[in-house]
Amino acid sequence: MRYDAVVVGAGHNGLTSAAYLARAGRSVLVLERAAHIGGAARSAQVFPRHDARLSAYSYLVSLMPQQVIDELGLDLRLHRRRISSYTPVGEGGILVDHGDPARTTADLGGDAQAWDDFYGMTGELAQRLFPTLTEPLRSADQVRALVGDRAWDDLFARPVGEAVERRFASDTVRGIVLTDGLIGTFARARDADRLANRCLLYHVIGRGTGDWDVPVGGMGRVTDALAEAAVAAGAQVRCSTEVDAIETDGELARIRTTDGSVVECDAVFVNAAPSVLDRLRRRPSDRPYPEGAQLKVNMLLSRLPALKDASLTPEQAFAGTFHINEGYAALEEAHRTAAAGRFPDVPPCEVYCHSLSDTSILGADLVSAGAHTLTLFGLHMPARLFRDDPEGARQQALELTLTSMNSVLAEPIQDCLLDPDSVEARSPLDVEASVGMPGGHIFHGDLQWPFAESVDEVGRWGVETADPNIYLCGSGARRGGGVSGIPGRNAVAAALGESTL
Ligand SMILES: Cc1cc2nc3c(=O)[nH]c(=O)nc-3n(C[C@H](O)[C@H](O)[C@H](O)COP(=O)(O)OP(=O)(O)OC[C@H]3O[C@@H](n4cnc5c(N)ncnc54)[C@H](O)[C@@H]3O)c2cc1C
Repeated sequence: MRYDAVVVGAGHNGLTSAAYLARAGRSVLVLERAAHIGGAARSAQVFPRHDARLSAYSYLVSLMPQQVIDELGLDLRLHRRRISSYTPVGEGGILVDHGDPARTTADLGGDAQAWDDFYGMTGELAQRLFPTLTEPLRSADQVRALVGDRAWDDLFARPVGEAVERRFASDTVRGIVLTDGLIGTFARARDADRLANRCLLYHVIGRGTGDWDVPVGGMGRVTDALAEAAVAAGAQVRCSTEVDAIETDGELARIRTTDGSVVECDAVFVNAAPSVLDRLRRRPSDRPYPEGAQLKVNMLLSRLPALKDASLTPEQAFAGTFHINEGYAALEEAHRTAAAGRFPDVPPCEVYCHSLSDTSILGADLVSAGAHTLTLFGLHMPARLFRDDPEGARQQALELTLTSMNSVLAEPIQDCLLDPDSVEARSPLDVEASVGMPGGHIFHGDLQWPFAESVDEVGRWGVETADPNIYLCGSGARRGGGVSGIPGRNAVAAALGESTL
């Protein structure tokens, strides 16, 4: 059987490509190694005895352009959170509440003005830069002219730690700002390679505002909406089919699967990571093998835990991102410890409660019982720390992380679990095994600058590969990373031309 296009992987980006290709009239086959679609953007009944469909890995949406939602006619609702974050400090804390600017200003204290200046700058940057992510690549100079020298110096040219230290006085506030640069990224604020800058950029420009919204119905709803659009337009999706090799002469490609079958096509769209593509092409890889650095913990609670801070309710505190031991110095110390080969003594992490914004992921019994989900993302937990003893290390990382969490609560989180088993931890190695992300890296590899880094790249899409009929359509493309559909769309723009979209 010969298709116009084969998509390798039914992650949300592969499905995005499939939808655009099928709508442009191309015959499309999507091959997915797992028994289900979605990759890291999926919902699952994580605790079999309880009727709760949690966003198993990714949980918030910021980077998906409205343009993609509109063009594909996605049946998708994104809920804007009023509370952006809460950070407990001693018996008090810092609440960033869009609905109560006076409280936010009071909590930020001496850093309130610096906060407004910094996020005023990132807000402007978001408006200017985000629309370019679905356009051909610009040069660095063009992006500099677009965003202005101030944003360029602070967020692109110099390690972001310099701007954070210069602009903010409080260690806690510095840490709140920096965490956006460290999600899924094992880096330090002052590293010369500015990896933390790139990660921070992707966290502050989404949808032109930098807001992180709750996908109503959970992350699986995002994937389902994309799959519905792809299938409605005529794409075929085949799960439990792993691609083993891709051969091409530049015009005709042959896709070999592990069950021995061969599919021919004109063009291949690879949703798997770039290092997986190297393996499928049977060529030596010149890129470092990716390494994820996060611990993901899913929990189901009978009630939200009590806080030490009497000035707000747990419902307020957990509605946004709840920062735990993520002070600037603590983040630096955690990185130092992990780089030296040990888990951080007090792991920095952040949690949020989906069910406070959207109860549709819970069965009626759980809703009426007042149950809640809790999602925790732990920083600076690199895959290397789990390799010798994956099970033991996962358990140790979980225990350290829950102890870190308990240090800022008025009661142990374990007392709030729906039952003792309703907590699940996933190391980078677990993510690699279940989702196929190499090294468990949540972006398929280090995030790249959102502009051309060579003259040749200007005007291209950041999805091209060494083979003229193979395109990267996943997180590992330039301007990939996160739940966005951007590389999925850009790959089709590169292959067929923008006018077909
Ligand atoms: C714990 C965690 C939390 C995260 N939180 C967020 C968040 O809140 N918000 C956010 O925006 N992002 C988040 N991310 C990142 C985000 O989930 C990913 O960047 C994004 O899902 C990548 O999507 P993708 O479609 O490009 O790739 P993937 O989701 O990795 O999908 C790739 C697909 O290809 C398949 N595949 C691989 N190899 C083969 C093969 N040989 N043959 C066939 N199929 C193959 C895989 O099985 C998979 O289904 C998180 C990630 C993790 C792991």
